[in-house]
Amino acid sequence: MALTETVPAAAPPAHEGILRRQSLRESAARTYARSLPIVPVRARGLTIEGADGRRYLDCLSGAGTLALGHNHPVVLEAIRTVLDSGAPLHVLDLATPVKDDFTTELFATLPRELAERGRIQFCGPAGTDAVEAAFKLVRTATGRDGLMAFSGAYHGMTAEALAASGGAQHTSVARLPYPYDYRCPFGTGGERGAELAARWTQNLLDDHKSGVPRPAGMILEPVQGEGGVIPAPDGWLRRMRELTAARQIPLIVDEVQTGVGRTGTFWAIEHSGIVPDVLVLSKAIGGSLPLAVIVYREELDAWQPGAHAGTFRGNQLAMAAGRATLAHVRANGLAERAGVLGARMLDRLRALAGTHDCIGDVRGRGLMLGLEFVDPGADLDPGGARPAAPQLAAAVQRACLDRGLIVELGGRHSAVVRLLPPLTITDEQADAILDRLADAITAAVRTNPGPTASSPTTL
Ligand code: PMP
Repeated sequence: MALTETVPAAAPPAHEGILRRQSLRESAARTYARSLPIVPVRARGLTIEGADGRRYLDCLSGAGTLALGHNHPVVLEAIRTVLDSGAPLHVLDLATPVKDDFTTELFATLPRELAERGRIQFCGPAGTDAVEAAFKLVRTATGRDGLMAFSGAYHGMTAEALAASGGAQHTSVARLPYPYDYRCPFGTGGERGAELAARWTQNLLDDHKSGVPRPAGMILEPVQGEGGVIPAPDGWLRRMRELTAARQIPLIVDEVQTGVGRTGTFWAIEHSGIVPDVLVLSKAIGGSLPLAVIVYREELDAWQPGAHAGTFRGNQLAMAAGRATLAHVRANGLAERAGVLGARMLDRLRALAGTHDCIGDVRGRGLMLGLEFVDPGADLDPGGARPAAPQLAAAVQRACLDRGLIVELGGRHSAVVRLLPPLTITDEQADAILDRLADAITAAVRTNPGPTASSPTTL
């Protein structure tokens, strides 16, 4: 990630002062603020306006939170209705009409098995807390302790969620290969790579001397988001479902980023038809406000009252905004729209890759899209991939910002430029995004021409 702290030369004093005070006062751990030195003051749909008067097309969308873009009228209306009703804003986990409506709407979107026989736990309002809850739930239900997770995963920043993520330094979580076509750990890619990944997992589970005891649960993302926009093949997901079901291992699917229409179906699990034992949901379900839940099969509901308590599990505004968002996505077929538009954008991105040999791979599902930047001067590795080019990706991100386009970086080496636009964008807005991106890539390549043949190729 670029560590840009610069302020545009023509920026007005208020904008400059806010950015300067931020870099003086906020933690060294701040993230997006480093590569995106803007001061949002107004936003609507795809567009953010900065304190410097500049307008940006926002394809970061709150890290995939804003299914309907910024400040959608149905979201604002839902929030105003709660505010004007005199309803309490803070209620711990007590029952309220707002929560009842949210739960009903959410259950209407779920696969039948979960809708009819599922339980919901409202968690602390972040994806990571819902991941912690899922782990606690399956440990209690199975009486087992270990967990299985996948290389390149991202599940959050609290202790256990981090331990199950690809960036973990100390971990007791067994790590499994995720089918990453472009950088296939088995050097084959395609269906064969996914088959070998599945076989590895099966072997680990069945070999009594594998050194990995039967786990309390397995957690996976249907599309790895932060890991670099890596969609798992549907067949591989079905294999993971079969393997876990046959061995009474609860399967936890983390749809924090893929949910609410993002990948072209309401939930990404619908592509493969699998039904997990636990579904982890956050981001878009709160309609831009903080909300996180797990939904799980009732057989797992063996934990004790208070097993996952927390003061902020009753955010009424988030539930109202979330209910409005879920209903709007459902009523307007926005998941299908994301599928159609995403496929069109993917085609254009592939055409772009055809004219830029620094784009090693283009991939995505629905409106979750990524371009992996590589060093075109370096040799291909045995699997046919070139070394990642994180500096070039950072230069593309900066060039995008200069052109009024906000994009995110992700992937193993921060070399994947990610697009997560709202599901509500028009065809013209999609074209404007891609035009700016194409122009930014040309500019970044011009100013960063040098292939760095010695750059590391580690996975
Ligand atoms: N799981 C996934 C798949 C995510 O993408 C994220 C956030 N990017 C999280 C969990 C953690 O969510 P939060 O940042 O709200 O804790």
